[in-house]
Amino acid sequence: MPFIGKQVIDKVKLFVYKGTIMNQEISKKLHLVFDIDDCLATAIKYKYKAEDELSHFKESLGNDGDDLLMTAYGYPHQIYPGFYALWQWLHQLGATITVFSSGIKERNVELTEQLKKRAFCDIPIDKQPQIKVFSQEDTFDTTRFGSERREEFQSVWFGNLKKQLLGTVVSESELPYTLLIEDDKSYCAKNEEKNLILLPSCSTYYPYSSRIDQRDFESFHKAYYLCGLLKKILSVCEEKQLTPMMASEYVQVTLENETINRDFYFPSQHNIAYYEDGLKTLQQFEPQLKFFFSLDDCTR
Ligand SMILES: [Mg+2]
Repeated sequence: MPFIGKQVIDKVKLFVYKGTIMNQEISKKLHLVFDIDDCLATAIKYKYKAEDELSHFKESLGNDGDDLLMTAYGYPHQIYPGFYALWQWLHQLGATITVFSSGIKERNVELTEQLKKRAFCDIPIDKQPQIKVFSQEDTFDTTRFGSERREEFQSVWFGNLKKQLLGTVVSESELPYTLLIEDDKSYCAKNEEKNLILLPSCSTYYPYSSRIDQRDFESFHKAYYLCGLLKKILSVCEEKQLTPMMASEYVQVTLENETINRDFYFPSQHNIAYYEDGLKTLQQFEPQLKFFFSLDDCTR
């Protein structure tokens, strides 16, 4: 066995957790800011459709569904599988978890409390992470400006409301370690394009069997994708000595031979290897996790 000097070990500060080798310093500074709707969960918003949607949910997921349904502010919320395990993994890495939804505060707080309770049910309450919640009133509303000034606040992607990380969620020194997890790039604030991870989403939470396509597979298993992508980002941080923001751009943009522009569509979402690798890591926390349907089931 080769001799490794103590000073080298101290310098690299590697630690091993459940098979994942990470740079402790970077993962401890990592800060993930999660959107809720169509990202962590899909709410059943319309009461007239609720009965149909809930019976489709129960038929599709059977007993697995018991763990994935929560009610917040009176509305049923279907949680995407893998996020409880993902939060446990991030907590083990020492990362910070924050929630930022443009929905109303009462709903956001109520749902976040339940997600936290479920994700960290094995950890004593005093050891559970604090999760800050940002809501509609924390978004930056560009419509209060006239059409010309409004342009000044736009990122590459146009949007009325912006989730500005700098100044709202983190300071300037923390920004390079902070990533916004979104399904909607219009919320991305000016000069924060490199802080964005876009997750796949589609109009239905769980697809109807007559018409499943790859997008349904990606959207339903988005937590697995995020885990696989974050593992890759953290390994690039290590290899290339980049911050998570720069490594995230490297993985999502440079490695895909792309540039960030208005039409950039985050093609890494279609790389199934991220889903497979992410699932393997998340199963170490929640062994019952699986692909709920396969790409072979896709009819389009
Ligand atoms: Mg959303």
